[in-house]
Amino acid sequence: MLCPSCKVEMRVESRTAVTGDDSPDTETRVMLVQEFFCRNPKCERYGECVEQVTHPVPLTRL
Ligand SMILES: [Zn+2]
Repeated sequence: MLCPSCKVEMRVESRTAVTGDDSPDTETRVMLVQEFFCRNPKCERYGECVEQVTHPVPLTRL
């Protein structure tokens, strides 16, 4: 993905996150979160999280 300001390919950081809380009434879902950061030091959006994309992760029972 390109930075919308400077059109340089952005750096991606991925992490997983869980929705819901510890209550059994709340559905727990695992999400893959990708955060895109501009890597161009001359860009006004440098170091900022420009875009965030979340993907639900399908769970399989062991
Ligand atoms: Zn940029």
